[in-house]
Amino acid sequence: MNLRERDQKHLWHPLKQHQLQPESLGIVKAKGCVLTDEDGNEYIDAIATWYTCMFGHCNDFITSRVYAQMQQLDQVMFSDFTHEPAVKLSEELIKILPEGQNKIFFNDNGSTAVEASIKMALQYYFNKGKKRSTFIAFENGFHGDTFGAMGVSGLSVYNGPFEDLLIDVKRIPTPNGENHEEILSLLKDYASNDDIAGFVYEPLVQGAAGMKIHDAEGLNEILKFCKEHQIITIADEVMTGFGKTGKHFASDHIETKPDIICLSKALTAGLIPMAITSCTQEIYDAFLSDDIAKGFFHCHTYSANPVACSAAIAGIELLQTDAIQKNIKEISIAHKAFEEQVKNHPKIKSTRHIGVILALDLNTKMARYGDLRDKLLKFFMSRGVFLRPLGNTIYIQVPYVITKEELEKVYRTIEEALDTL
Ligand SMILES: *Cc1c(COP(=O)(O)O)cnc(C)c1O
Repeated sequence: MNLRERDQKHLWHPLKQHQLQPESLGIVKAKGCVLTDEDGNEYIDAIATWYTCMFGHCNDFITSRVYAQMQQLDQVMFSDFTHEPAVKLSEELIKILPEGQNKIFFNDNGSTAVEASIKMALQYYFNKGKKRSTFIAFENGFHGDTFGAMGVSGLSVYNGPFEDLLIDVKRIPTPNGENHEEILSLLKDYASNDDIAGFVYEPLVQGAAGMKIHDAEGLNEILKFCKEHQIITIADEVMTGFGKTGKHFASDHIETKPDIICLSKALTAGLIPMAITSCTQEIYDAFLSDDIAKGFFHCHTYSANPVACSAAIAGIELLQTDAIQKNIKEISIAHKAFEEQVKNHPKIKSTRHIGVILALDLNTKMARYGDLRDKLLKFFMSRGVFLRPLGNTIYIQVPYVITKEELEKVYRTIEEALDTL
């Protein structure tokens, strides 16, 4: 039996209705930008496996660092001990994080990074003897699948069965350059009873919503309002972090810096799950007390796993090399040219691009919604390109190490799809 068949006996996949889609493709190898399936077919990974392996799969520099770390120190309890990989990672990360970030707290995935940030904001106020229990978040945001993270997420397809159990969240639309007055009046209304603990947002790009890009100036105005009203600003950079938008972090495009930042996905370069919630000294200081209970009693067993830390340190080192920075710029230029080329295609409704992210919204009148997505996915795979449309949006988020030929092939395949489907 092949992997596809053996899989169906005991496995339950995420984001899947198994009755409709019983099969999963068996992947046996990943190297650079290429995935190889069990029948030997190859696919260019044009979304960097959910924007994680930005330096390519099984990157030799990263795997060699990780291998060395595995032989030195594998895992030790971070509640009682510290170690070089965690210390080094905190030093390297603080150097590149947006201004103001000074403390690093470890989690093990993007959802728990957000979960910890929400708990930090709530306890920040609790420790100061104030009660603030509501959050502000964008419509259509996505912040993960644990309860707090689900609560601030605004994509209801995921939240349906749990809606009654979620924290209280007030929604605002994303800024589009024209709706500032509307957003401001909502913010004023929400903030009027001093109950808002924090504002959780995906800075500049909403990933799961379909790589929707919003207005940096408008976001800055929202952040300024939050600062004026002591609303803790929490940037969920789980998707945008580590170079995706052309700068190290999306928050680097915005003047007002967040109080808390959530990191995961590309943090460990697609190798090992890990996440971080970083914060300012001011947030951290609110947890210092003679009273033990004012500490932050949130812990994951594998906190600061040394092997994961070593992958992150290697990734951050690569990110800052001239070679990778040059690739990011070149991909961005290539995306811009391709965007110009396809934006007037009759099947394209709108396009947007920032850094290595390019999104094309299809004119859905051309076909039925869900069908189109499945058809596109099948088409791309049949041409050896892994692209995973979000609804009617095709997006590209390629690894920084993609070759010109591979990137060309991704573009040509999309053009072919537009012309034939
Ligand atoms: C993926 C994602 C998360 C959730 O991360 P997981 O590791 O899947 O739990 C949270 N926020 C954003 C913006 C994401 O893209």
